[in-house]
Parts: sequence; structure tokens; C-alpha cells
Amino acid sequence: MSRFEDGFAADKLFAQGYSYTYDDVIFLPHYIDFSTDAVSLSTRFSRRVPLSIPCVSSPMDTVSESHMAASMASLGGIGIVHYNCDIAAQASIIRQAKSLKHPIASDAGVKFPEYEITSLDAFGPSSFVFVTQTGTMTTPKLLGYVSKSQWTRMNYEQREMKIYDYMKSCDSSDYCVPWDIDLEKLEFVLEDKQKGFVVLERDGETVNVVTKDDIERVKGYPKSGPGTVGPDGEWMVGAAIGTRESDKERLEHLVDAGVNAVVLDSSQGNSIYQLEMIKYVKKTYPELDVIGGNVVTMYQAQNLIQAGVDGLRVGMGSGSICTTQEVCAVGRGQATAVYKVCSIAAQSGIPVIADGGISNSGHIVKALVLGASTVMMGSFLAGSTEAPGGYEYKV
Ligand code: NAD
Repeated sequence: MSRFEDGFAADKLFAQGYSYTYDDVIFLPHYIDFSTDAVSLSTRFSRRVPLSIPCVSSPMDTVSESHMAASMASLGGIGIVHYNCDIAAQASIIRQAKSLKHPIASDAGVKFPEYEITSLDAFGPSSFVFVTQTGTMTTPKLLGYVSKSQWTRMNYEQREMKIYDYMKSCDSSDYCVPWDIDLEKLEFVLEDKQKGFVVLERDGETVNVVTKDDIERVKGYPKSGPGTVGPDGEWMVGAAIGTRESDKERLEHLVDAGVNAVVLDSSQGNSIYQLEMIKYVKKTYPELDVIGGNVVTMYQAQNLIQAGVDGLRVGMGSGSICTTQEVCAVGRGQATAVYKVCSIAAQSGIPVIADGGISNSGHIVKALVLGASTVMMGSFLAGSTEAPGGYEYKV
């Protein structure tokens, strides 16, 4: 041992019997002889899903739907679509995510036809409100639109009408362009058509609606690499499923929709239900990566590794909204959980996803240094333009 070794080695720290959270540990700085350009963040989400950044969006209905999944993939990470919806809706989100070649999440508001616009707040920062059957872009057959200037000119009585009474119908193919159009051409069409927005379509379904304002906004974003692209040339997208019998049918539809990895979503992954589901997925879809979890101990991890998982998800009670440690009296400090699970997963070359508890960039560094291949984030990404949901203004 060098006389300058004055720290406390990780194997000693985590062998003391204490449970550490990220905030309980801190690393000693060392010596820098490289530039930041020389740092590669390339990693693996699961055995056969490579990423160029170690970031994953959580399968929560406030975080990961099509725009988040496409945006994460475009940056070199991956998004995991939640399953708090019926099978058809989840499959549709995956198809849409894979079709969002330009993952532009419009600033425009989306409303259902019976909605009454009572103030300019409905437009958000955009010049348009778009109208779909459900009032969301998840089932995005565009029915019509209202421009801010049209609504501003309407009198008080007209404003009490439902949107479908005065919206401009959008059936016209005038607005439609193919989903895989180049960004430069898209900009040109927007200028040429003088409409303010275009509808990107794939196989007769609306994939996205993009306004001039959206294009201006994303042009200011930093340039990124090629992103996480699968063998089909489209974004790689993950999805969460459960371990019930009905989840086998769900899985079949997700595979048809082109899902690239499935996450078995449970607070306690080491169960007979999950072991059986892992074996079922591996037998039925041998090419599909399956991620097991959540786990926090070496024993739990070893059981899932033996069942054949391609990745492990770590964290019990570490998420910002999670009450498992209070309600069920089980869990573990996330730093200890990540270190312990990674130490056993590394022996089989299984990537580990550190799930939850990420509230600053230092937590990401800690998770990676403790052995995780990626971090999964929920509240860190919720509320962004790419997350599901609209604007609510409170006075
Ligand atoms: P779960 O589906 O694993 O478990 C719900 C209940 O159903 C459990 O009692 C389980 O034993 C049972 N079950 C599962 N499959 C079954 C089958 N085939 N037959 C009979 N019973 C079966 O889900 P959960 O643990 O309640 O988690 C729900 C969601 O909440 C997930 O999204 C999870 O990630 C999240 N969550 C996460 C944490 C965390 O700390 N990471 C904590 C709580 C919840």
C-alpha cells in the first residue's frame, strides 16, 4: 500500500454492515491527465442494448411515453414506456416513439373536442391548440386546430362554445408530410405552406405535429450523435410489463410494435412470478433482452441471473415518490444496494440499472462509480416538455 493511500476502499466501506445512501458517500479526487473530450460514456442498458450515454427514463406515466422515449434515444440513452394503460395504447406509444425521427415535442396545447378554451393559457407558449379525440398526443389522430389569433378575435359568446364547434378541421392532406422527412425539408415545407404547422404521418396515422416555433426551439439544442438506433434503423425503445398471465399477451403486442427490451416492473423482483416470467420471455422471444428487478441484495440478484436476465434494476424505496421503506419495512440505502448487486452482476457480465434517488448529477456519478452501467431517472425528467402532460397555470 502506498503511503499516500489515505482513503477508505469501497470493499471495506460496504463490508461494515451499514446501509449507505448516495448522500452518505463521497469520493476522493485523484489526478487528471486527459481532456473531457477523451471521456467515453458508452455503456450497455442490457446485454444486447448498447448506449452512448448512461441515462434511462423511468417507466412512469408522468415520465416516459413516445416523446420521452424518442428524445432519450436521440441523445444516446433509452426510454422505458410505462404500462399504466391498456395493451393497445402501450403498443401505440412504442410505434409512435419509433416513428419520431425528429423527436420534437411540440409546445402546443392538445385538447379533446368538447373542451372549452376559457383563456390564452390553453395555448401554452405556442400559437396553436391542437384537437385530438382523447386530448393527448398518445392517440394522435389530429381532428383540427385553433390558432391563437383566431381565438383572440372571437367574442365572449363564441368563446363559451366547445372547440369542435369552431376549430378548423385538419382532414386536409395539405398539412401532411411523411414521418421520415429530413429536418431541412421539414423547415422548407413549413415556410412554403405558410400554415404554421405540419402533420407528420406514417401509414395514415399522425405521428407528430410540429410548429415553426418548435423548429426554432430545437435548432438551438446542442448537436448529438446518431442516437440509440436498432437493427430496424429506428429508435430503440424499452417497455415495462408485469408478471401476471395477462402480461404475456401484452408482451406479444409490444414485440409486434418493435420493442427492443422489456423491464419486468416490480418493487420486489425476486419472486416466483418473476422467475417464471423471465424464463417465459427468454424461451418465447430469445432475441429480446429482459431486465429483472427491482433487487437490492446479492442473493436476489443471483436468483434473477440464474433465471437468465439480460440486465438488473436496483432500488427499493430509493425513488423520490417511493414509500416502500416506510410501508413495507424493506429496502436498502441505494449506494450499498448498487455496490452489492454490481459486485455479483459483474461476474456474469450483466449490466445494472441504478433506479431512483437521482436528484443531482453527483448522484449519477456515484451510481456509475459504484458499478452501475446506467441510471434510471423519474422526477429528474418529469415536468419537461418531453414528459407526458400539458401546461397548468396557477395564479
Ligand atoms: P408487482 O406486480 O410485482 O406486485 C404486486 C402484487 O402482485 C405482489 O403481491 C406480487 O407478489 C403479486 N403478483 C405478481 N405477479 C403475480 C402472479 N403472476 N400471480 C399472483 N400474484 C402476483 O408490483 P409492485 O411491486 O406492487 O410494484 C408496482 C409498481 O410500483 C411498479 O412500477 C414498481 O416498479 C413500483 N414500485 C417500485 C418500488 C421501488 O422501491 N423501486 C416500490 C414500490 C413500487
